Amino acid sequence: MFAARSKPQFSTTDVFPLTDAIMDFDDSAAEVVRLSRREVDVRRLPGQRTLFQKWLIAISLVSLYLMVVVVFHALGMVQTQTVMVLGAMIGGGLLLFLAVFKSGLNRKFSEKRLKFPIVACALGGLLVVFYLDPVTQIALAPFAFVALAYGMYRIQRVQSYLLGFLFVVGYATVVALHYWEQQNEALLRLELMHLLALGAAIPAFLFLIAKVQLLHHILHRASRKIKNIQEDAQRDTLLGCFNRRYIVAALEEQRQVADETGIPLCLAVIDLDHFKRINDELGHLGGDEVLRHFARVAQENVRAGDIFGRYGGEEFLLIFPATSLLPALNTCERIRAQVEAHAWKGLLRGKVTVSIGVTQYVPGESVLEFFSRADTATYLAKEGGRNQVVVEEPTRKGDPSVTVEPIPDEEDDLEPEATLPSPLEPERRFASSRG
Ligand code: GH3
Ligand code: MG
Ligand code: MG
Repeated sequence: MFAARSKPQFSTTDVFPLTDAIMDFDDSAAEVVRLSRREVDVRRLPGQRTLFQKWLIAISLVSLYLMVVVVFHALGMVQTQTVMVLGAMIGGGLLLFLAVFKSGLNRKFSEKRLKFPIVACALGGLLVVFYLDPVTQIALAPFAFVALAYGMYRIQRVQSYLLGFLFVVGYATVVALHYWEQQNEALLRLELMHLLALGAAIPAFLFLIAKVQLLHHILHRASRKIKNIQEDAQRDTLLGCFNRRYIVAALEEQRQVADETGIPLCLAVIDLDHFKRINDELGHLGGDEVLRHFARVAQENVRAGDIFGRYGGEEFLLIFPATSLLPALNTCERIRAQVEAHAWKGLLRGKVTVSIGVTQYVPGESVLEFFSRADTATYLAKEGGRNQVVVEEPTRKGDPSVTVEPIPDEEDDLEPEATLPSPLEPERRFASSRG
């Protein structure tokens, strides 16, 4: 069935006032797209390091320590044996972690649980090197703080204090061993001073770190809340589908993608038929329930990648990224048929229907022109008797990017009734309706 009537290109309806449409599509939409892109960027900042990058940080810190010890060795302060032992410990540690990752064992432990043994190993390694070469204690204190700071966001406060305590006890043990083996009073005095300084500074450092941990925890919670708010801001509170703000921004974004890539893009405007009557019969709450059911039916029948959202009232937009007219039309026809066939309760059975207008994007046109063409098609579907899908073909002729290629996708093979007019015929509108 072909609808021959025409109406002004930029139409307006009750729920779809033209002023709103112009505002949304010409002014705020691009801003919303920019905003949402910024939101995504901001969300990407914290905690988005890959596992490789995380390990790179750990390896860099270890390498830094090795480098310092190698320089000490070059200055003739550290024995070759100490450098060899340190190299072997680092190499062995790396091999162990590589084996853990290769075997997938790391997935059994959260990063949080892995940090404690890593920091414990690092502190233990520092003590071994210090035991082998007392002169390395110059580097011992700074690197102990680096190791403790490395684990500060992941290791619990009690565990941090435990690590600090064990480290100081380990240091005291090494000092005692040095004195027992060397009986060097001067060295003992120096090491005791160092022990005292460490014993006082480490608890103070951990206390300050606890403050940073608290701040980190608060920020983490706040960022989670912001993420939830951002997700809620995209959803329609009544129906759970995307809301007007999101769908308009998505349309603008998809239009830009279509312009940049030349990939086809389609849009459908879906309007429930005689919804006022449904409200009159069932009351507003009953009407809301119908809207909920409709949104569910529609979402069940769109393909992954299609973007469905409520534009306002009982009016919805369905964006078909990377889709040409025929598959878009078939999806629309499937939604129309499913809504009609849905097991609506009691009086509603067979009375809930939708009118759908669908069109394809013409590269370079404004989003308002694109939307208005789909809206025009919906208007014609209403004019044609409702419960039907109408295609409004793009007006620009001779543009191969808007030619309807009958390439059915696998999901749409089952829709034989939806066929399109030959692209050779002049611009016209096609309606598929019940029966
Ligand atoms: P048509 O077939 O021409 O689209 O007729 P219609 O009655 O569906 O269209 P009209 O625009 O005249 O009426 C739409 C009605 O939808 C009016 C409004 O009260 C109702 N409506 C809009 N939003 C909601 C909502 O969230 N819940 C309910 N229950 N009704 C709504
Ligand atoms: Mg309406
Ligand atoms: Mg309506």
